[in-house]
Amino acid sequence: MNFFYKYLLFVAIISVFVFILLFGQLRGFRHTFIGKVNRLFLVWLPRQLSQVDQKWLHGRGSIYYRKLSNYIFFQKHSLVVLFYLCLITICIFNFLYHGRTLTNHFHTLDWLSIFISISLPYISLYTAMYSDPGVVTSDNWQEASVAYPYDFKIFFPHICETCKFVKPARSKHCRLCNCCVQKFDHHCIWINNCVGRNNIRYFFLFLFSTLQLLLHSILRIGTHLNHVRDSRLNSYLVSWWTAITNERELGSIFLISLFSSVIVFSFLCYEFYLVYAGYTTSESEKWADLNELIQQSRIFMHYRNGIQKLTLQEDAPPDATLTHSLAQVENIYDRGFLNNFKSIWFP
Ligand SMILES: [Zn+2]
Ligand SMILES: [Zn+2]
Repeated sequence: MNFFYKYLLFVAIISVFVFILLFGQLRGFRHTFIGKVNRLFLVWLPRQLSQVDQKWLHGRGSIYYRKLSNYIFFQKHSLVVLFYLCLITICIFNFLYHGRTLTNHFHTLDWLSIFISISLPYISLYTAMYSDPGVVTSDNWQEASVAYPYDFKIFFPHICETCKFVKPARSKHCRLCNCCVQKFDHHCIWINNCVGRNNIRYFFLFLFSTLQLLLHSILRIGTHLNHVRDSRLNSYLVSWWTAITNERELGSIFLISLFSSVIVFSFLCYEFYLVYAGYTTSESEKWADLNELIQQSRIFMHYRNGIQKLTLQEDAPPDATLTHSLAQVENIYDRGFLNNFKSIWFP
């Protein structure tokens, strides 16, 4: 196996590993290979290391690890935003500084398209970071409470112990931001903010603008590398690899863009799937929990005033019947792909 194929294998393994770490905790993957590998790295391995630490370092390593992981995972901070900003800014400066063999041939329109392409991720990140996700306050609680009805399946009226009001349907209390957010999707470390009813459109714009920058970079540098690569070489892939290593700075930006675009594209596909399915990231976990209870034959269904309601077996009224599959359960928040998509832009 030559170096290029080893490199491709390395990139493929890293991509799969990052995907498993990012998505493996989703309830939908719980009983799959992806969920098991995720738990291996995030639960089993830390436990083993903790045992080794107890034995050899008398628990000192665990104390530092707990402090660090508590800060990284359970406090609001901008570390990931800084990482994102550093990565794209360094790549952009490298491109402008080392890519003169490419940029020397640029016309005004090329520079204009590059300027727009570079500006968009910064603008969309700023907007997503500082936009209101739809925080429920005493001023807007009334309006938030009637925005969505309770479905009596995954949302029931109950009080938020911290905010001290009845949580509107589809809202959730974010531990990191310490507030309830309307149509809560998730707390996003990439924008250091919650994603909810009022700012999910900016989150989509952030993903779109990052993806277009990466694709722009792949297209511009890829065309250049294809132009300078030695086509006399026997193998097509080896000629590409030679061009990448000859133009190391541009080549590394090309590979980073290629690798990152796969991750950003996966995020976008997942968000589009949620729009199609008619639920948020947070709700997808509730539906997965409900599905597990249905599989255990613990969920009963009955109708009141034409509204389908679900209860646990122990609370079921006499006219309730056993729910056999999730397909029998109506998702009242799903109004079809186009309407769901429209509600993101016009909440
Ligand atoms: Zn709350
Ligand atoms: Zn939050």
